[in-house]
Amino acid sequence: MAARDIVIPADAGALLIVDLDAIAENFRRIKSVCTDTCVGAAVKANAYGLGAGAVTRTLAAAGCDTFFVATICEGIQLRKTNGQAKIIVLNGPEVRSLDTMRNARLTPTLNSLAQIDILSKNGGNEPARAWLHLDTGMNRLGLNAHDVDALCADPARMDGIDVMAILSHLACADTPNHPMNELQRATFDTLRARMAPLTGAVSASLANSPGIFLGPSFHYDMVRPGAALYGVRPSAQGPNPMVQVIDIYTKILQVRDVDTPMTVGYGAIHRVGGPRRIATLAAGYADGYPRAAGETTGYMESSSMCAYINGKAAPLVGRVSMDLITIDVTDIPTEYCQPGQTVELLGPNVNADSLAEASGTIAYEVLSRLGPRLRVEYRGGAV
Ligand SMILES: *Cc1c(COP(=O)(O)O)cnc(C)c1O
Repeated sequence: MAARDIVIPADAGALLIVDLDAIAENFRRIKSVCTDTCVGAAVKANAYGLGAGAVTRTLAAAGCDTFFVATICEGIQLRKTNGQAKIIVLNGPEVRSLDTMRNARLTPTLNSLAQIDILSKNGGNEPARAWLHLDTGMNRLGLNAHDVDALCADPARMDGIDVMAILSHLACADTPNHPMNELQRATFDTLRARMAPLTGAVSASLANSPGIFLGPSFHYDMVRPGAALYGVRPSAQGPNPMVQVIDIYTKILQVRDVDTPMTVGYGAIHRVGGPRRIATLAAGYADGYPRAAGETTGYMESSSMCAYINGKAAPLVGRVSMDLITIDVTDIPTEYCQPGQTVELLGPNVNADSLAEASGTIAYEVLSRLGPRLRVEYRGGAV
């Protein structure tokens, strides 16, 4: 999308453009990487900040029928717009949420012996469907080898539970050569084999986005991409095999000339070394633009991050504040440095991965923190 075609609405500071066709394309690319495997989509956290409604409609139209959410509330929202989808709640059930989950036809993930006991004792008249989470090395959620032994010694604890699938989650999949990957895969196979007498032969699922690119031995029956669908680079190495999904544009509010010994922004940390022109932009960290992308300490001469005006780089100067960003536009022709001028914060010249890297975080966090104040515009899609 060329910045010159983008106009920021008068009543908004910044525009988030979500390309739904790009999400559908990324879904197809993942399908082509794992041909004999189902592709379920992680749409937790409002589909990583991009809008769960539009994103799930797009993915459903592309052929996706299984969606992973973190919380029951996210599952209920999704159920309102999609009667058919299989919705898996990763955080699992509590006693007080069983009725709610059943009514919305949400499938719980069982992450502990305690959650197994909750579901088996309160499953209603027919067996309650669930996914079972095995911990193979993350040590956050899931049954470990010890828990699996306890279950095998007392199989009746699984009464009333109909296990649909078994999943585990990879810790280091974005580092292809990391020994954890094979270790976790082997542990997954061992624990599944021990569970087989209790569950029967059920589907298995191990890979998140980066796991998909570790090769077919990690695909099993279903893969669970989130980030890659939204254009995030799934591996630390090599070119990004996904297409970019989001752009963020803001506009210039004011342009001013400054000279030494003036400073720019909070903390007066950016000292102007000579005559410069500064443009103030109508977005800030309240919109989800990382504060750490700007200068923060004053020890750095400048931020490594730039905004782009008609494709020309303008470095961030001073701190990113809640509603405003200041950039140095001295080298940009004056005609493009007027109030109202569209400025790219994320787009053809800056992707979420590079913005995240300059901010000391990962694109997952940048996406999921996109602020509610951003005006959202969807392009394409079957909506
Ligand atoms: C979030 C999540 C995913 C998706 O991970 P990505 O790296 O975004 O593809 C898959 N599985 C589980 C259990 C998750 O929590």
